[in-house]
Amino acid sequence: MNVPEQLMALAKISLVEDELVGLRQKIKVLPQPAEAIDLEMDGTQKRYLQLAKDYDIILSERRQLERSLIEEKDKVRKWQVRAEAIRKEREYTALMSEIGSQKRLINDIEDQLIEKMQILEDTEKPLHELEDALNEAKEASVKAWGEIKPKLDEINSRLTTITAERDALLDALPKSLINKYNRIAEKRGNAISIIRNEVCTQCRYKIPPHMCQMVYRGDAVESCPSCQRLMVSEFNMESAAVTESKPVEQNA
Ligand SMILES: [Zn+2]
Repeated sequence: MNVPEQLMALAKISLVEDELVGLRQKIKVLPQPAEAIDLEMDGTQKRYLQLAKDYDIILSERRQLERSLIEEKDKVRKWQVRAEAIRKEREYTALMSEIGSQKRLINDIEDQLIEKMQILEDTEKPLHELEDALNEAKEASVKAWGEIKPKLDEINSRLTTITAERDALLDALPKSLINKYNRIAEKRGNAISIIRNEVCTQCRYKIPPHMCQMVYRGDAVESCPSCQRLMVSEFNMESAAVTESKPVEQNA
């Protein structure tokens, strides 16, 4: 493959590259609305789980208090029965005083219980609201991804097709040029630039005239001194576009 043919092949590859760059951009941008919904959903889920956890803690504290209340009330009942049987004044007074402090303890437990029940009641509404919001977000996420997924699949399949096309064009080039192409493509995303009005259209660098001439004449495959991309001229581009749509006659 001579140099003019190499430049023509690179020009064809650059047409494919343009589409590749566009497709990669779409793949990046297309999922963004769904990703935003997912991000919000994660936040709602975190808040919901935290509140549900807080609710469960208070609930188990309430149950613990209810059990204590039953136990402490039971003690009072037993002590009262015992008090009825006591004949000695001092012993009776001592027990009654103990019953008195036990009743204060019971009051205290009852106060705590009321407090816990109030917290639980106050938490129920926001908890349900968060649960609803979470369910809505989940539905919105499924819907958003449902719309995006087929488009993404289509783009990815097109990407696979034209990547194969590019690789086939690339395979025809000399090995050293392929290596160079791959190194630049890895770093820059696309490896070929068109010179237009002596300017690299990828990085806007003004290409020295003698270098432009080399490319225009098809003397050499040159790299842009600034972005390192392989340069093709507008003329190579036009020929590539023509052969792309209309195969060149073989018997010329
Ligand atoms: Zn450049």
